Amino acid sequence: MRILVAEDDVTSRHILTVMLTKWGFTPLVTEDGDAAWAALQQADAPKLVLLDRNMPGIDGLEICRRLRLTESSNPAYVILLTGQGEKEDIVGGLEAGANDYVTKPYHNAELQARIRVGQRMLELQTHLVEARDALAFQATHDALTGVLNRRAIMDRAKAELVRQQRDERVLSVGMCDIDHFKRINDTYGHQIGDEVLVGFARRLQEQLRAYDYVGRYGGEEFLVLTPLSCGGDDTDLYERLCARIARVPFTTTAGEIPLTVSIGVVASQVLCTVDGLIADADAALYHAKASGRNRVLYARP
Ligand code: GH3
Ligand code: MG
Ligand code: MG
Ligand code: MG
Repeated sequence: MRILVAEDDVTSRHILTVMLTKWGFTPLVTEDGDAAWAALQQADAPKLVLLDRNMPGIDGLEICRRLRLTESSNPAYVILLTGQGEKEDIVGGLEAGANDYVTKPYHNAELQARIRVGQRMLELQTHLVEARDALAFQATHDALTGVLNRRAIMDRAKAELVRQQRDERVLSVGMCDIDHFKRINDTYGHQIGDEVLVGFARRLQEQLRAYDYVGRYGGEEFLVLTPLSCGGDDTDLYERLCARIARVPFTTTAGEIPLTVSIGVVASQVLCTVDGLIADADAALYHAKASGRNRVLYARP
């Protein structure tokens, strides 16, 4: 594990470096507060920090204070190094945001034990952050295909519609429904059907741009959101999507399976709601199905 060390005294610095290395840590050594602060601003800054209380430049207390002002779900663990008898410094340090302190001259085993506590705290913190992020992902993504789930794509649609209307732009909504998907399940089984859904979602994502969104609206129905600049055209996008689905069969463990998709598309008006847009896209999709499938139809304004 990497540790940031900030210590202006050359002898203390040397001893710390040697000990930390012996204990299996990788010290990143700085000689004053300014250098330490600069190192802490890096994206990959060490999370475990040994800070001398008194240093030229920004002192240890001020660094603690600044660190705690920075919002982070994964904050650094700071051990303050203070001289003996600097009780006010210790209180001040803890109140400024240090997690712990060690007085000089160090008792080696104590310093090592306190660093280990910090290491354990950071490991726990990392696990909690990962668990939280995983839960947030599960709550917003479809378990099978990994694209946004229905609630998340609807939330996205509402937010995007407001944004596009405010900027006098257009949000285009495409409802994509796989043609005769039931036949795939009936012919090859549900598991192969799942594989096709995964491949289909992936292909949608490949065709979209960084600022487009795709979500699973229902079983084999996917909703695509494309924010368009004023007067922009989404014709190409959906036609390309539809053509590519039909042209390149899907590779599954049961072999290659050809597929087509029908798409109903609607562009937002000045006064419209997401529910209204979905209803219009659905109506266009219905007509696409009724008029032969494997095509894109646009809702009339
Ligand atoms: P159309 O061209 O009219 O859309 O016909 P379709 O067969 O695609 O439409 P239909 O609504 O009749 O059937 C959709 C099928 O999708 C039925 C359902 O069993 C299947 N399905 C829904 N969710 C899943 C899933 O998660 N996995 C699999 N394998 N199948 C699913
Ligand atoms: Mg000092
Ligand atoms: Mg359907
Ligand atoms: Mg279908």
